[in-house]
Amino acid sequence: MAVYIDKNLCKGCALCVIRCPRKVFEISSEVNRKGFTVAAAVRDGDCVKCGLCEKTCPDLAIRVAG
Ligand code: SF4
Ligand code: SF4
Repeated sequence: MAVYIDKNLCKGCALCVIRCPRKVFEISSEVNRKGFTVAAAVRDGDCVKCGLCEKTCPDLAIRVAG
């Protein structure tokens, strides 16, 4: 299981942090080239592949691979 975030699409809105039922995401300390503090999939081993994060991210920055 792997959860990928395109850091340069992310704007750090934290919707994925709120929405993921498995608490996979956190806002990191990393800043992308647009100046946004980006999300990280810090517990991707806990992902159950429900797909909510991909549907929730307004910037289409998340991809969940099986
Ligand atoms: S697919 Fe579901 S469980 Fe996995 S990271 Fe996205 S919201 Fe969380
Ligand atoms: S929902 Fe998308 S844009 Fe918002 S913090 Fe998560 S990955 Fe970044």
